[in-house]
Amino acid sequence: MVLEAAGKPVRLAEIPDPEPARDQVLLRVLACGVCRTDLHIVDGELTQPKLPLVLGHQIVGKVLAGGTRYEPGARIGVPWLGWTCGDCRYCLAGDENLCDRARFTGYDIDGGYAEITVADERYCFPVPVGYPDEQAAPLLCAGLIGYRSLRFAGDAERVGLYGFGASAHIVCQVAVAQGRQVFAGTRRGDEETQAFARSLGAAWAGDALVGPREQLDAVIVFAPSGELVPAALGHVRKGGSVICAGIHMSDIPSFPYELLWGERSIRSVANLTRADGEEFLALAPAVPVRTEVETFRLEEADEALDRLRRGALRGAAVLVP
Ligand SMILES: [Zn+2]
Ligand SMILES: [Zn+2]
Repeated sequence: MVLEAAGKPVRLAEIPDPEPARDQVLLRVLACGVCRTDLHIVDGELTQPKLPLVLGHQIVGKVLAGGTRYEPGARIGVPWLGWTCGDCRYCLAGDENLCDRARFTGYDIDGGYAEITVADERYCFPVPVGYPDEQAAPLLCAGLIGYRSLRFAGDAERVGLYGFGASAHIVCQVAVAQGRQVFAGTRRGDEETQAFARSLGAAWAGDALVGPREQLDAVIVFAPSGELVPAALGHVRKGGSVICAGIHMSDIPSFPYELLWGERSIRSVANLTRADGEEFLALAPAVPVRTEVETFRLEEADEALDRLRRGALRGAAVLVP
């Protein structure tokens, strides 16, 4: 499925099989998760994609050939971080997620909305056993970057998850397993999602703009809606933090300094490191995280993206070729 220009639907196309270069493996795509980032690319909110582009950065694939780390037949996961330079100040400091020259899967590099793809094996992970392909796919971005966001919440006991989609439904399970209380914020009146959050152990679920009665220690904002940032600041205690987990958000409206006062902080979370991936993929089966997925055939990618845009998904959308 190919994106030719922002604002256009992705369309089915026949393109030549990619050839694995040095350090790359050739993969048969078994499943590929649909991420909100894909939607930001399609909608032109992330403005520098390679074009034409094959989207998709939560790939579970079977190694067909190439590389040296994995045997043919191995099942591996391909995440958003597709390549880093290794010698910029960020790479040298261990912050490869911030690499100045990073290349991202399904953005700078063709991704997994396809039957066949290639990936740099140095950035891939073994997929935990026990997860069917389609249930493993959302671990690779929704889970992994969600987990990085939760780490930035420190030892917060009362954690708000605002925007309860693919990422939050995974983070909720991890947070509950760690003994935290989860407060799930959704769109006003979205009772179905609120019930879903409660079923995963959330102590409260309701309108994110209103928030719970209790003061929170931290809020992770997953929804791409800037108005949630001042709202969340109003819901955290002194010294609390608001963590923005998405790659793009609508403008944050201005707000009185009083909301930030009291050593509250706002930060963003960018991308992932390979260490995040190793840590989270070891943790997920131990929790155990169970992903809720809706599967779509590859040629239904546009419908999956549209459902995500409308908030009409429970858990994560996954394409299966
Ligand atoms: Zn770098
Ligand atoms: Zn993603």
